[in-house]
Amino acid sequence: MDLALLDRTLSERGEPSYRARQVWEWTARGSASYGEMTTLAKPLRTVLAEEVPFSTLEVVTEREARDGTLKVLFRTHDGHPVEAVLMCYRDGRRSLCLSSQSGCPLTCTFCATGTMRFGRNLNASEILDQALHFRRIAPVNHAVYMGMGEPFLNYADVIESARRLPDLGITPRRTTISTVGWMPGLSRFVDEVDEPIRLALSIHAADPELRSELMPVNDRYPLGDVVTECRRYFELRRRKVFVEYVMLAGVNDSPAAARALAALLDSRTFKVNLIPYNPTGTFEGSSRQTIEGFKRELDRARIPATVRLTRGRDIEAACGQLASVR
Ligand code: SAH
Repeated sequence: MDLALLDRTLSERGEPSYRARQVWEWTARGSASYGEMTTLAKPLRTVLAEEVPFSTLEVVTEREARDGTLKVLFRTHDGHPVEAVLMCYRDGRRSLCLSSQSGCPLTCTFCATGTMRFGRNLNASEILDQALHFRRIAPVNHAVYMGMGEPFLNYADVIESARRLPDLGITPRRTTISTVGWMPGLSRFVDEVDEPIRLALSIHAADPELRSELMPVNDRYPLGDVVTECRRYFELRRRKVFVEYVMLAGVNDSPAAARALAALLDSRTFKVNLIPYNPTGTFEGSSRQTIEGFKRELDRARIPATVRLTRGRDIEAACGQLASVR
């Protein structure tokens, strides 16, 4: 729902200022249409249905993986593709993976999103409409900004959307924004966001040359500066930073690479999440044993580390696989 258009439409009709909040609350709690909003007068519901489309996104396709993961391809009003994913876990966790951009201008070599054409930043309403789509299917309690795009290239709309997620049942502590270390956005996040929204950093290699090869953005914002900024975040906010590290066979998965990663990090600020590589064509994923060996090196250096559970691989819904045209 275009929240700016909603505001305009309501105020043009002379509605009181709390009306927009009312509409939003119904929507955030999973209403499927204006028709269900029984605290609004019927004529007003009719006007809204005509003038403010219930969603800014149109559903193009919906796919369900064997593990129950749901991936939806949406289209914006101007034709840009956007994908989002719902993951359900046995412990009751229902986690949304949201996109912040259509496509991505960064060209990380292992990520499928980087190979599609970059469209544009999504506005806050378009980000929220991804979440609202799933909220209408089931209650949700976690969200990660790990879909298409680099959230900190779209700072204002990402933060605006994240601040509304609690109305859908997703608290700041259960909201994670993941970045490659785009410094302008990262610094603003550190300075401006008081809510305990979690921060995740995609590192993938401690060695500067290798990281630049895998993630060209490293030339612009070197990892050393990014790690320093994360330490400032910890000092200011007392919250750990999650490190994401995709395990690529023969590329970044040696015991020496693990030791270099451990030397770069400290256990006070960081917690590492090792990510099994999801096929996108370019690399081979590290074996189970190699991942375990890598984790052992981190254990030895007392850097906390876990291995990420892979979901939705059979429908290209897993990390790094979101790309609407292939
Ligand atoms: N641009 C942000 C948000 C996207 S998050 C960022 O990069 O952090 C997507 C996560 O999935 C990142 O940690 C990314 O590095 C990881 N990823 C990308 N391609 C992957 C792949 N093929 N297999 C597993 N993880 C991948």
